[in-house]
Amino acid sequence: RAKSAGKAQFARYSSELQQQAQRQLELQNALAQACSCGELRLVYQPICRLDQGQPVLMGVEALLRWQHDGREISPLEFIPCLEESGEILAVGDWVLRQACTQVRAWQLAGQTQLRCSVNLSSRQLQQGDFAARVADVLRETGLPAASLVLEITESQLMQDSAQNLACLRELASLGVQLALDDFGTGYSSLGYLKRFPLHIIKVDKSFIAGTPQDAESLAISRAIIGLGHSLGLTVVAEGVEQQAQIDFLGREGCLYAQGYWFSRPRSPDDLQRLFSGEDCFDGLWCRLDALPQ
Ligand code: C2E
Ligand code: MG
Ligand code: MG
Ligand code: MG
Repeated sequence: RAKSAGKAQFARYSSELQQQAQRQLELQNALAQACSCGELRLVYQPICRLDQGQPVLMGVEALLRWQHDGREISPLEFIPCLEESGEILAVGDWVLRQACTQVRAWQLAGQTQLRCSVNLSSRQLQQGDFAARVADVLRETGLPAASLVLEITESQLMQDSAQNLACLRELASLGVQLALDDFGTGYSSLGYLKRFPLHIIKVDKSFIAGTPQDAESLAISRAIIGLGHSLGLTVVAEGVEQQAQIDFLGREGCLYAQGYWFSRPRSPDDLQRLFSGEDCFDGLWCRLDALPQ
């Protein structure tokens, strides 16, 4: 009996796996089209400085969106497909160029200090000429190198770290800022913080979500913020959704935050409206999501 039960279970697993593989294939085919059909777009989420009495807009993070068959597919689902198929290289180039062009336009329109954060896949770093491509994009769009922040997760950094290290060094020498994203969720080898030329760490939103109520989340967030500061790094808290979390970050001396409390990721038009309106002046930001839509 145990044997036949085992077989039945195996059959169930393998059909689940088949379905997953099928879904993966479908997504990959659809994605190949998406890239050429303009189904991909960028939204931008504000990153704010907290120690000026009111939140001050420092930068925006470009986040990829895919509208397919009338619904939005999460980047957590489709980025791995793009990585698998290699299309992440072309899409990543497009994201970088698009985001730099957009932020440069906002800078010229008055948001002079605005920074542009772009997420990277390790596949991109593994191209021997990636830093040269970034330099080209900066030259062509006119965005100052110091205005560009490139974000990479710990788990992405782990892959082929010798090549990644070489590439990050080249990027740092261009004057670009490098951020370690989702900090605390990967292998969290503290050695990485020393080994790679990083400027920023982003405390993962799973830790921030538990603050200030949950003692463990609080202890971990506090430790990461302290560690970052003692290494001379800028620390950004991700996923801030409540005033109590901002109060906590203030007590810990964490200067930068990003999250739904300030704003969800927004279309360029939405941000443009805010930049040109009365709701945002001299970089002073209010809670976007508290404003009438
Ligand atoms: P990430 O870089 O850590 O981006 C932050 C994610 O947290 C975004 O999810 C954002 O919408 C979400 N988020 C922001 N504030 C809050 C909050 O207050 N609460 C909660 N619960 N979530 C919040 P999104 O847009 O779904 O992106 C997921 C991940 O996909 C990103 O995580 C990034 O790793 C990856 N990704 C997105 N765009 C790109 C891209 O252009 N290239 C690459 N390689 N990866 C990308
Ligand atoms: Mg990011
Ligand atoms: Mg993150
Ligand atoms: Mg993430």
